[in-house]
Amino acid sequence: MTQTPPAKPRQTAPKTAAGARKAGRGPARTDMAGIAAVDGAADVEQRIYQSVFDGVLNQRLPPGTKLPEPALCALFGVSRAVVRKVLQRLEHDHIVELRPNRGAVVAAPTPEETRKIFEARRALEAALVELAVQRHSGKDIEELHALLHQEEEAMANAYQPAWAQTARNFHLQVAALGGNPILLAYLTELISRCSLIVALYEPAGNAACEHEEHCDIVDAISKGDAKRAVAAMNAHLVGLEERICLERPSSVKTLAQMLNLA
Ligand SMILES: [Zn+2]
Repeated sequence: MTQTPPAKPRQTAPKTAAGARKAGRGPARTDMAGIAAVDGAADVEQRIYQSVFDGVLNQRLPPGTKLPEPALCALFGVSRAVVRKVLQRLEHDHIVELRPNRGAVVAAPTPEETRKIFEARRALEAALVELAVQRHSGKDIEELHALLHQEEEAMANAYQPAWAQTARNFHLQVAALGGNPILLAYLTELISRCSLIVALYEPAGNAACEHEEHCDIVDAISKGDAKRAVAAMNAHLVGLEERICLERPSSVKTLAQMLNLA
């Protein structure tokens, strides 16, 4: 990926693998058909999944966008059976909704669902960060600092999925220090759902996670200050939820444009 770092990274449309293929090797349909012949079926499914997933996370596919099966078959040069399998996976991961007799649309979590997901996440992360304060080692803090450094670099390169991924890794790494795999498994699912909501609704130009707030959380953990660590984590997650804007204008682009295939 070669990009000029802009002042506000999320205002620049990030490049995707599909976009890069398109730019380098002609029409997407031919390209995808070629891939279908060379790769196994699982690889083709993964590419379509990733194309839709990137489109959603990069805010090219807004909530409620219709994903008609015939259009997806034509765009990717695959059968309905393949498209259906991919749509079912996307539904399982809460990225699309499958409506009986009306087809698939990009999921649009309601304000109430969003509130509950964040409420659950705050409760879990408060418990886990408190455990992290009790159980961390000096090496753990070094690793968190390394992650914060990566995060700073990712923010400068404008590729939003990479940036969102480091923010997600930060939360999971802090949670892992809590040493409770059961809580960690629940949190992993919640963070995925939150990432999607943030990508769907956060106004362009805003960071998914504020880097300075992550630094503050690590500082509190390293000083063994459980009260401050819990308060910092809670304030961080409240801020993240408050930045979400549940109203977005509907898109006038075509599905192919939104998937970066046209
Ligand atoms: Zn964060």
